[in-house]
Amino acid sequence: MSECLLALGSNLGERAATLDSAVAMLDALEGVRVVRHSAWQMTLPVGGEHLERQFLNGAAVVETTREPGDLLSLLQQIEASHGRERLERWADRTLDLDLLLYDDHIVESPKLTLPHPRMSYRRFVLEPAAEIAGDWVHPTIGWTLAELVGQLDSGADRLAIVSP
Ligand code: ADP
Ligand code: MG
Repeated sequence: MSECLLALGSNLGERAATLDSAVAMLDALEGVRVVRHSAWQMTLPVGGEHLERQFLNGAAVVETTREPGDLLSLLQQIEASHGRERLERWADRTLDLDLLLYDDHIVESPKLTLPHPRMSYRRFVLEPAAEIAGDWVHPTIGWTLAELVGQLDSGADRLAIVSP
């Protein structure tokens, strides 16, 4: 049994209902159990004054017997079932499901990168993740998620160069 951390996001339609439904669909999958999830947080899009495009974000801890690539395919099927059209990256989306951490696996393949490469500096990912898994140590940076959020909050004007 492996433990994973997922990020959920939605900025179109009934956002809270979409995230609730994604959790229910995840939990209903064979070999997947949602252990807990964060509160859904509102995030203003960067540079965006469009309130109707506000993102709702959250995180979930999941136990699974599925392999990472298999789990990612299932996440993409759930995204597709919520009508997400993969037009361009970072476009508006009904549902975005990202695999942030899978145990302490480090993966770099064309389809899957673990840990998720943008998780460590996105507040809208880290805050909900730290709410439910603050003690989880990021496998390449070596800091807990709580420490990573603290780093964002400190507003320190420095650049950390990290490598495995
Ligand atoms: P983002 O979630 O970064 O805004 P997308 O959801 O549009 O961007 O990107 C999806 C692509 O990222 C997919 O082609 C998928 O194969 C790839 N990808 C690589 N690693 C991961 C990961 N850990 N979680 C989710 N998607 C990933
Ligand atoms: Mg994604």
